[in-house]
Amino acid sequence: MARGTDSPILPGATLGILGGGQLGAMFAAAAKRMGYRVEAISDVADCPAARICDRTHVGDYADAAFLARAAAGLDAVTFEFENVPAAAGRALAAVVPVRPHPDVLFTTQDRAREKAFLVRHGCACAPHRVVRSRDELHAAVRDLGLPAVLKTAAFGYDGKGQAKLTAAADVDPAWAALGDAPTGPRELVLEGWVDFDCEISVVAARGLDGAVAAFAPSRNAHAHHILDVSSVPAGLPEPVLAAATDTAKHVLAALDVVGVACVEFFVTRDGRVLVNEIAPRTHNSGHLTIEACETSQFEQQVRAVCGLPLGSTRQVAPAAMANLLGDCWFPAGDGAPREPDWAAALAVPGVRLHLYGKSTPRPGRKMGHLTALAATADEAVARVTEARRRARRDGQKS
Ligand code: AMP
Repeated sequence: MARGTDSPILPGATLGILGGGQLGAMFAAAAKRMGYRVEAISDVADCPAARICDRTHVGDYADAAFLARAAAGLDAVTFEFENVPAAAGRALAAVVPVRPHPDVLFTTQDRAREKAFLVRHGCACAPHRVVRSRDELHAAVRDLGLPAVLKTAAFGYDGKGQAKLTAAADVDPAWAALGDAPTGPRELVLEGWVDFDCEISVVAARGLDGAVAAFAPSRNAHAHHILDVSSVPAGLPEPVLAAATDTAKHVLAALDVVGVACVEFFVTRDGRVLVNEIAPRTHNSGHLTIEACETSQFEQQVRAVCGLPLGSTRQVAPAAMANLLGDCWFPAGDGAPREPDWAAALAVPGVRLHLYGKSTPRPGRKMGHLTALAATADEAVARVTEARRRARRDGQKS
């Protein structure tokens, strides 16, 4: 039901968002501003999307009957979270147009399938081997050499389910930690270590008519495998930016995405772009489009999913975004959480605060983000990191 050139879904219609996190909340805010009703489908009641949506259906993503009931009153459904069982997407697609199609999730939620897709479509990525046993892991390490990164094929994100192998002695413990499971060996992907210059990502949208619009590539700095700061422009040579943008557009077309997707890249020291992973939804590195672009990634998602013309992705000024992890609530590292000093953060000129309304801060949990526009990307980065430093009550770390 998701494919084809149906007539547009116009304001007044009801859109569903599968997943209740902050990406769903920001999608709902954009859609509601445009006159849509929005209903979240979530496995937890107290979720960021529930604060914004007109209604939240709470149940189990594995319960096809619950999903079909939730979808009954919806005109289209999209995703903010891709780690849902493939059957969940199919249960929804039987009732309502699901965009992107659940097949897209099926490909991208498993690193082995995603890598095979990239290779099949001529997209460069890190050298890799799929491994299903300790012996296959040893063979893959012989092939690719060390260092390397071992990743679970399914349900990994923000560095979860990953181990870096630097010496032969790391191989058996890494297999025991990631490969051995009570239900039998897990499928893993071993990736050769990419000595990258930087990481970038391209958020792009593709409409029902196949039109594609990409935002400018974002330069992304990670801390402990979690996105820390994004900035645009990325400050890279034009051919590198063009290669990333072209690859992202190619990926969206090859996957037949209707909606928004983000393609993350490693930029090698010799200027090649290697696809790291694909997220078939809006992305943390695209949050700065809310303030910095003529159309935000969330409005673009609404437009694409509803079969409307895509908006302009033109950026009005250099911008940066810094994530606010739960760590900001624990300036001394432990003890009771303390609310960060938002007034101090907002005293930095041009800084905008987004808090997702999560009640319990935990280290590593994405609680919100800060955005700033400035004359240059470096200046925008300086503003958001200074604001974050002021918000943390120890005043030490950014
Ligand atoms: P991922 O969950 O695959 O995005 O990995 C999280 C982060 O780990 C990436 O953003 C990189 O900073 C790092 N990383 C992952 N794979 C590799 C690799 N093959 N070589 C070097 N760094 C990597």
